[in-house]
Amino acid sequence: RLEVRNLTRRFGDREVVRDVSFSVAPGQVTCLLGPSGCGKSTTLRMIAGVDRQSSGEVYVDGEMICGPNFSLPPEKRRIGLMFQDFALFPHLSVADNVSFGLEGSKAEKRARVAELLEKVGLSWAMDDFPHMLSGGEQQRVALARALAPRPRIMLMDEPFSGLDNRLRDDIRDETLALLKDEGTAVVLVTHEPEEALRMGQEIALMRDGSIVQFGTPYNIYNAPVDREAMAFFSDIN
Ligand code: ATP
Ligand code: MG
Repeated sequence: RLEVRNLTRRFGDREVVRDVSFSVAPGQVTCLLGPSGCGKSTTLRMIAGVDRQSSGEVYVDGEMICGPNFSLPPEKRRIGLMFQDFALFPHLSVADNVSFGLEGSKAEKRARVAELLEKVGLSWAMDDFPHMLSGGEQQRVALARALAPRPRIMLMDEPFSGLDNRLRDDIRDETLALLKDEGTAVVLVTHEPEEALRMGQEIALMRDGSIVQFGTPYNIYNAPVDREAMAFFSDIN
């Protein structure tokens, strides 16, 4: 379970993330939704540990991973990352990409790689190199790679934005099923209302660094907090 408490990030005298709090249960997806520049990626970076918060705390399964005067290094946080520009290693095979960063014996690693490639339907591509795969297939490999070390938390920043519509729907659904199956708590960042409504059990609507509304897709869609929120959802049908 992920708990984010009062995260704030200042650059100079500008607060780009202000007092952001939310939590995500295992197997659940919370979407951070909002327009460009509202602080979504900065929030994820602080949770991942690649950026330092100005104040606030983050807990995973009750254990503090960062807070005042304390910061667990990113590689010790057991957090998986899937970012749009988080490319596969071109010089490694699909299997080696998934196995990268795994610990344990050779046999254990091989078993985990096989299990995940099976789950994403790419067992046949094990020995291929990334450039031999389609965009969607590469995305599936990236998902398998992110899940391989059994992260407690998965942070996804617009992971589907490079894909065409039909493919995107398929991959979204597969991704959700797989993450649920693995019991991972997910934070998904998107600027597309439709994606948030489709993928999140809960949505945090952000604006200018703050969460202005938090609720289920039903709530957020049917009872927008103000005119601006209403306008944001108005072009979906
Ligand atoms: P997008 O949807 O375009 O990806 P975002 O919601 O992810 O937007 P962030 O990347 O979190 O937005 O950026 C929030 C604000 O913080 C932006 O105005 C950005 O210019 C500013 N910002 C981010 N990183 C830095 C930095 N290292 N120094 C100064 N300002 C920064
Ligand atoms: Mg961003």
